[in-house]
Amino acid sequence: MYRFYINNTDDDYHFMELARAFLPDDGFETIPYSGSPIRYLPSENSYLVNEKGSDDREEIKREFYRLLSELTGTRPPWGTLTGVRPLKPALAICSQSSVEEMEKVMKERYLMTDAKASLIADIADYQLGHVSGVPWEKASLYAGIPFCPTRCAYCSFASNVAPAEDHAAYLENLLKETAYMGRLAAEHGTGLESVYIGGGTPTTLTAAQLERLICGISEAFDIDPAGLEFTVEAGRPDTITKEKLDTLRRLGVSRISINPQSMKDRTLRLIGRDHTADDIREGYRLAGETGFDVINADIIAGLPEEDEKDFTDTLAEIIDLGADNITIHTLSVKKGSRLKENDPVYYRKNVETVSAMLDISRSMLTEAGFRPYYIYRQKHQTGALENVGWCRPGKHSIYNIRIMEDKQTIIGLGAGAVGKVYYPDEDRLERIANVSNYRLYSERFDEMLARKNEYYR
Ligand code: SF4
Repeated sequence: MYRFYINNTDDDYHFMELARAFLPDDGFETIPYSGSPIRYLPSENSYLVNEKGSDDREEIKREFYRLLSELTGTRPPWGTLTGVRPLKPALAICSQSSVEEMEKVMKERYLMTDAKASLIADIADYQLGHVSGVPWEKASLYAGIPFCPTRCAYCSFASNVAPAEDHAAYLENLLKETAYMGRLAAEHGTGLESVYIGGGTPTTLTAAQLERLICGISEAFDIDPAGLEFTVEAGRPDTITKEKLDTLRRLGVSRISINPQSMKDRTLRLIGRDHTADDIREGYRLAGETGFDVINADIIAGLPEEDEKDFTDTLAEIIDLGADNITIHTLSVKKGSRLKENDPVYYRKNVETVSAMLDISRSMLTEAGFRPYYIYRQKHQTGALENVGWCRPGKHSIYNIRIMEDKQTIIGLGAGAVGKVYYPDEDRLERIANVSNYRLYSERFDEMLARKNEYYR
């Protein structure tokens, strides 16, 4: 166990997060320290960071990063940058100077590798060229359907395998919350820029239930779905039918998401999915036939027992199947997932393989004409790596971008939904989380609405 005394600081959060990129949670302790110089260190694995007493947190983090690199022989590619939104500091620099200058600063200030700095520069370049500023009078809307046909081994979302009567009962409350929030939005003159129905797997609902939900949202917020970015996740191919896709398209849904994660049957079985790669192919065929503007695919690098070839084969096939928007996730093994229960340090394994997969994805997608347009990182992600959304130019998801910008009100509906109220004067967001258990969501419905009312007002 290493002990790191961080001098001249009373908050060790950022240092703890940085140490996590190098060491397992139980392999270190960071101890904020200030006062007279430490005269002795209690064990041979104890280190004093920032002996000279600098006040510059970035400078202290650089010193700490170098020490951790020396002790572990590793050099995590994101350098000292620990936040989940690496584009934020990059865009802040771009607002004062050029993208090229930003790339240089990111390497010097955060010690990130050339490859990650150039990735950030590519994303900043895309957003500066293709994405307009936040329309202040408009919010994004997220509605969650917390049901799936089975639960994936890595899942830590509000997702449940539940009987059809639970779906029906849940939908009734969700529609009530939708109507309530629609009235509140109307009182404040808040319109919508985008709608995203996610989960879980929304297409677990029947075609008739999906129709009620989409019509409920359209009426409550007085929108024409065809007039704005409207996405429905149809993540699991075993929930897709032609009737559901036709319903979505007829009602104006422009984007759907079919998320294979892998095109290898053995992997699909290992992660607890109840469908095959052929079902994914069929889902894409039906979606192509229905004619959506954009089909999104999510793929995960680092799934159990997969190597670079498996990943390459999956990505090549998804590109061929016609996805316009592909998000490459690095496996994140969080609390609440089966993988975490079975192997608490799974996320620390396969770092080299996953890094190689991400490199492969960058060259394959670039070659196929995709551009990286949004990025985020998560805790407990293999190698402290990243998730990157790629799109064919112009096919980006504005919802994904706004979520990462943190500068827009997000109206969150349903169990597990996290709404955010943005206060532009203070450049601050307040989170309003609904309960994630779908049964509690129904039981505590009135109490939850009262709380939301208070916040949004
Ligand atoms: S499809 Fe997504 S939400 Fe559903 S169980 Fe799998 S990871 Fe969880």
